[in-house]
Amino acid sequence: MGGILKVVHTICPGCSVGCEISLIVKDGKVFDGNSINDENCLQWKGYYKIIDHEKRLKKPLIKKNGEFVEATWNEALNLIAEKLKNYNPEDIVFIASGKCTNEDNYVLKKLAESLKAKIGHCICNSPKVDYSKISTTIDDIENAKNIIIIGDVFSEHALIGKKVVKAKEKGAKVTILNTVEKDILKLNGDEFIKVDDYSKIDLKYVDEETIIIINAPVGNIDEIIENAKAVNAKVLPVAKHCNTVGATLIGIPALNKDEYLELLKNSKFLYIMGENPALIDGNILKNVEFLVVQDIFLTETAKLADVVLPAACWAEKEGTFTNTERRVQKINKAVDPPGEALPDWIIIKKLSEKLGIDLGFKSLEDIQKEVIKMTT
Ligand code: SF4
Repeated sequence: MGGILKVVHTICPGCSVGCEISLIVKDGKVFDGNSINDENCLQWKGYYKIIDHEKRLKKPLIKKNGEFVEATWNEALNLIAEKLKNYNPEDIVFIASGKCTNEDNYVLKKLAESLKAKIGHCICNSPKVDYSKISTTIDDIENAKNIIIIGDVFSEHALIGKKVVKAKEKGAKVTILNTVEKDILKLNGDEFIKVDDYSKIDLKYVDEETIIIINAPVGNIDEIIENAKAVNAKVLPVAKHCNTVGATLIGIPALNKDEYLELLKNSKFLYIMGENPALIDGNILKNVEFLVVQDIFLTETAKLADVVLPAACWAEKEGTFTNTERRVQKINKAVDPPGEALPDWIIIKKLSEKLGIDLGFKSLEDIQKEVIKMTT
């Protein structure tokens, strides 16, 4: 068997747990890998299959007479820069993403700030919380005697679910609060409490041996954190995406679904990085006059765009993700992006140059220094 094998250590982009994985690369292609948590979660395997997917975007696209036409980077970025100049700051919206790196999000935020435009990222059903106040780790789950889960971690964050099961085997009491009685929830809990919604959750039996795991958009989360602090209980909010926490700590407004849709609805010039809001509501973008989508596939949202920019995926770029414990973890480039695709932060930097805006950094290392200051 010819060719040189290379092993690249990186982080799974599948959820906010942020498991370490190793990708095995040969002849410029990832063909296998393994994760330190293989026995608990194999979802990362689905994410490495997108790397070499035949439907990946490879060139910038410009819509002409309703059809996409391949363009050069210069043509696509010149068109975006020219259009941007026609809009007032209050009509320009940038959408960041918890699926992109800290560096990608930081650079997009710098551009939005330079233009005095609006920016936000959607946290979906993640708890809306000030993560800088949280210092609980996933490993703390195993040592708790009383575990309260608001939402569902068993289906959505397998590794956290596994830790709960381990703690239960050691004698922990597990109480689950959820709006739906899924079998998997009942199976793993000693007590199941059905709640109508998550707007106000009242907790009983919280003491210093308690950990409260929150994986739902709980309305009174600040009150829960304060009450837990008063009795030395721990709180672990679980964010949805691999870098929802990082994007939030960088200072990009964290939007729940309603706030997100409202922001989209009120934009005229909309620039979306790595998100697909047309999946939530196909009509939400109908008032947008000019739409730019930067992504790895021609998503439902990208199909509506005036310009589509091909981005590198998680295994094709350097950067960091901040996991749900606020751990900043380095991701490493395993292979080159397909065709002319580029890392998100480089695309935004190139657009800034077209606009004559100096974002104030020279290299990825410069950005990383800023990111570390903001997220730790
Ligand atoms: S628990 Fe999350 S980060 Fe870990 S392998 Fe599964 S999807 Fe990936």
